[in-house]
Amino acid sequence: MPKEFYIREELTALHELPARAADVLADDTILPVCATCATQYPGPRDDCELECWPLLNLGPVCEDPRQWVPGTGQAWTSLHQLVKGGRRNHLLRDVEDPRISLIATEPFFAIGQTPIVLETAEGSVIWDCSAVITEPLVAHLVALKRPLKAIAISHPHFFCTSLTWARALGVPLYINELDREWYARAGSLREGEVVFWRGTHALTASITLVECGGHFPGSSVLYWDRGGEPLLSEADARAPDSGLLLVADTIMVQPTQKGFTFMWSYPNAIPLHPTDVLHIQKVLAEYDYDSVTCSWPDRWVRAGAKRQMDESVETYLSATQWKRDSGGKLVPKGKA
Ligand SMILES: [Zn+2]
Ligand SMILES: [Zn+2]
Repeated sequence: MPKEFYIREELTALHELPARAADVLADDTILPVCATCATQYPGPRDDCELECWPLLNLGPVCEDPRQWVPGTGQAWTSLHQLVKGGRRNHLLRDVEDPRISLIATEPFFAIGQTPIVLETAEGSVIWDCSAVITEPLVAHLVALKRPLKAIAISHPHFFCTSLTWARALGVPLYINELDREWYARAGSLREGEVVFWRGTHALTASITLVECGGHFPGSSVLYWDRGGEPLLSEADARAPDSGLLLVADTIMVQPTQKGFTFMWSYPNAIPLHPTDVLHIQKVLAEYDYDSVTCSWPDRWVRAGAKRQMDESVETYLSATQWKRDSGGKLVPKGKA
């Protein structure tokens, strides 16, 4: 039997949608969204809708070598079109730790961004974002027993429609200051909507955002010290107490679920420089983690992740023809 990591939960609107959320979803419904990477842009011109969108200046996320504009040309959609076209959200509840759920989109859209909800004793946190946000999803998230307090985003490939999410849900966004220039809706921000941070940032007593760099200057991971988490229910007590890293693609969990790799550009297959890989390893060395997952389903290393990280770094150095010399300095393989 294949191992299942999640239990699927449908989202049915059992809870009322706050008036604020309905207004936000209506306000943003026709904003242009890149069909390739899900980045939402500030707005079409007043005098047109779909026809003029290709005339908008593209933001740097779409044209950057870490993303791509298809050979067939830039394609646009909108929240209105995505929902009208049948896209819906559902949840994937983690089988081992019910405090963790993924927000999936069906059918698949853009690069398949799948945000993760952590329901902690101090409140709930969403890690990363995707494009599609539906009324049943908002109704679910605003009714969480452990109220939502923040959305934290790893790097620009997950900025998506995050300003719509933050406004609809009434919580701030946490984005690394070094990636501010890639925030396509930066010109629309109001006071307090985004907290730009550097280095490390404690979201709660048990959750820390950690700047790693590499893939983007501000590429970050989320560390959840589950062992330090107060246990509020029997389900909490049965969940693993190992430290957990959520890594997006700052570090990529390999399909074997036994190791990791590192890329500067995933879609264009440009590797990360080994200096950046060693920096990521060094930054994470002080965190006590045993499990790692990223913002795509089934990319889990359930145990032994820290040891596997160290082994993966050695594999990466060797495969890219680098090694450390006797003083620990990075040198090309084959040189003394
Ligand atoms: Zn794009
Ligand atoms: Zn990325």
